[in-house]
Amino acid sequence: MAQEDVFKKIVSHCKEYGFIFPSSEIYDGLAAVYDYGQNGVELKNNIKKYWWDSMVLLHENIVGIDSSIFMHPTIWKASGHVDAFNDPLIDNRDSKKRYRADNLIEDKIAKYDEKIQKEVDKAKKRFGDAFDEAKYRTTSPRVVEEQKKRDALHERYTKAMQGPDLKELKQIILDEGIVDPISGTKNWTDVRQFNLMFKTEVGSTADGASTIYLRPETAQGIFVNYLNVQKTGRMKLPFGIAQIGKAFRNEIVARQFIFRMREFEQMEMQFFVKPGTEKEWFERWKQIRMKWHQALGFGAENYRFHDHEKLAHYANAATDIEFLMPFGFKEVEGIHSRTDYDLKQHEKFSGHQIKYFDPETKESYTPYDIETSIGVDRMVLSVLCHSFCEENLENGETRTVLRIPPQLAPIKLAVMPLVKKDGLAEKAQDIVRNLRFHFTTKYDEKDSIGKRYRRQDAIGTPFCVTVDYDTLQDDSVTLRLRDTMEQKRVKIAELQSLIEDQVSITSLLKKLD
Ligand code: ATP
Repeated sequence: MAQEDVFKKIVSHCKEYGFIFPSSEIYDGLAAVYDYGQNGVELKNNIKKYWWDSMVLLHENIVGIDSSIFMHPTIWKASGHVDAFNDPLIDNRDSKKRYRADNLIEDKIAKYDEKIQKEVDKAKKRFGDAFDEAKYRTTSPRVVEEQKKRDALHERYTKAMQGPDLKELKQIILDEGIVDPISGTKNWTDVRQFNLMFKTEVGSTADGASTIYLRPETAQGIFVNYLNVQKTGRMKLPFGIAQIGKAFRNEIVARQFIFRMREFEQMEMQFFVKPGTEKEWFERWKQIRMKWHQALGFGAENYRFHDHEKLAHYANAATDIEFLMPFGFKEVEGIHSRTDYDLKQHEKFSGHQIKYFDPETKESYTPYDIETSIGVDRMVLSVLCHSFCEENLENGETRTVLRIPPQLAPIKLAVMPLVKKDGLAEKAQDIVRNLRFHFTTKYDEKDSIGKRYRRQDAIGTPFCVTVDYDTLQDDSVTLRLRDTMEQKRVKIAELQSLIEDQVSITSLLKKLD
């Protein structure tokens, strides 16, 4: 099945099984805004806990905060967002659709890469074991030709983005013959800059209302609290401040479901270090964060680093952690060495000294900062995409199962009475009452047992327990496992110890130690 179709299935599965709904659906929705349903919110909370604990619990020198969404508007002047948080947009006059000019060009570069890769793959098949890929890439006339075109475009694009030079971006689109994917035409408008911040007003107009912004990232709330936390927590360098919270961006092209939303959630950690040690810490955080992702067991081959060639003006190193989604490798997390830029800017704009007094060297200086910034929603999407699975069973039936890591699954255990009568329902409810203190346990009595299993498979519940007539005699139940569908008889008293460790976030955290 084409990956596009798989993705469509995942999106409709999310709605059908209470993970993610389009926002304001009964009013026909609101573009690029989504709501989490009863299962989605549990999954999301588990991801947040995994991240939070991995930062705050496992690192003695990292503490958390929760800053507000509204902040003094000068913060966004200082951070550069008012002047430079722009995307270059372009419209197609025929389809009346709006695009990001940089994305159109990046897609074209990816097309060259694909074409080259196809040639290489074909040759690999032809030559078998004797194939020397490096040699082929430098000698095959067709590959060399395409690579030349690709590199020239890349160089021209990187230069154009530095200004950015909007005229040049349009010229590249024209010269490369890039057409609108809907209308198929090259009838483009000029490229314009578009600021991504949402504005609103505080105070009544009579009092003189002032414009403020919905924060486009949570990071600035950390920078402006640096001194508060450092002083009250008596923090010594290196130390980190973590935060989870909503961020808002008026994305020009919001697409791919919850991958690019206008309201989303970020988990950010700013790690303050002594100047000169930032490169070393940047490398360390790259490794720590990659380990966090890979501990979920989705396979190392599905992740890669994408180092930035073009660095933001405040960064001296940057990389993305990309995950293989059904629509290709995509950024899930950014790791940036942000130097002392943000603290210095806030010092300048606020007039307050923002420094660290080093008790060892007796010097005061502005710390450097390493940022790890990950989108909660993109994490939810990667978990769902990787877990979604349609299986053909031996009896000819198919089942849809979400193989969510048990530690992140919305419900850990479903308890089902075989029938509702003869005291079986009460027995099952007793089990729920005891186990719900330890992990999310739900009671389920509707439909046949087979249908109930399928329903739990579809939301990723790793364990089901069936209470039958024997249970009343010997206090044993049938424990059924989601992934293998294996069933075994166990004592009720054993359930907690059999399940708890496998579903707890602690078991994931232990893999990081
Ligand atoms: P992109 O290049 O995809 O627009 P970005 O580089 O602007 O992302 P950052 O500013 O580094 O993203 O934000 C950090 C993280 O926040 C991203 O890695 C991503 O997981 C998440 N994120 C950013 N924008 C969005 C969005 N519109 N919707 C959902 N998550 C987002």
